[in-house]
Amino acid sequence: MIRAIALSKTYGRGEAATKALREVDLEIGRGEMVSIMGPSGCGKTTLLQLLAGIDRMSGGEVWFGDRPLHKLDDKELSRVRLERMGFIFQAYHLVPVLTAAENVALPLIARGLTRQEADRRAVEALKQVGLETKARRYPYELSGGQNQRVAIARAVAGEPDVIWADEPTGALDSDTSEQVIGLLRMLNRHLNTTIVIVTHDPRVAEQTDRTIAMHNGRILDHGDRAARNGPA
Ligand code: ADP
Ligand code: ADP
Repeated sequence: MIRAIALSKTYGRGEAATKALREVDLEIGRGEMVSIMGPSGCGKTTLLQLLAGIDRMSGGEVWFGDRPLHKLDDKELSRVRLERMGFIFQAYHLVPVLTAAENVALPLIARGLTRQEADRRAVEALKQVGLETKARRYPYELSGGQNQRVAIARAVAGEPDVIWADEPTGALDSDTSEQVIGLLRMLNRHLNTTIVIVTHDPRVAEQTDRTIAMHNGRILDHGDRAARNGPA
């Protein structure tokens, strides 16, 4: 279980202080696919970054299973991210001078896998997202949707417990967006990977098990868990 307790974040100080998160409590079960919605500036990205250990909270706790992320130092946090988590962003964040396969293999090599094992897993992950024929292509040779699938392959190649996705369809047209969410849905079902998606798009949120609604640094609605097969 991922759990936030009285999680708070204030950016800046004094006159210029912004309370981005106000004592948020939240639980996300293993294998859940959850969306986070709310108006621009309400704290969605901040919440995602604190849950993922990318940024530091001003107060409160984040538990990732039995790991207290609020107590880990930067080095320990980056290890948890590298070994347990995958990330997908609106702008893909691929390395332009590396091929699709090299982009997918990069975090695996950073984790200490041999080049050979990393390459093998990269090809496997690209197969999972339907891009095995594009392994040797560079990002500029691929469409937006294809690049986002490379980013998804990179996120799943390390067999993470959870994938954090911040506006993953924000740069895609609606058909491509549907494909990308369908792919995440499929990976969630087949691999039981927990997936947390920040989105503006109600059609994306519709595809998830539940939608967390935020407003002004607070959670207004934790959402009803949709009925699904298998353990939540
Ligand atoms: P157990 O008590 O069965 O060992 P924990 O809750 O301590 O289970 O979690 C063990 C590990 O599983 C955590 O350290 C984390 O890596 C992962 N984990 C826990 N909860 C989740 C979740 N909701 N989604 C994804 N991974 C999780
Ligand atoms: P959302 O993702 O819902 O659009 P954010 O979490 O990005 O919201 O931002 C929440 C609030 O915190 C906003 O008022 C935003 O301007 C502010 N904020 C976000 N990041 C920073 C930062 N690095 N420095 C100062 N203020 C920030």
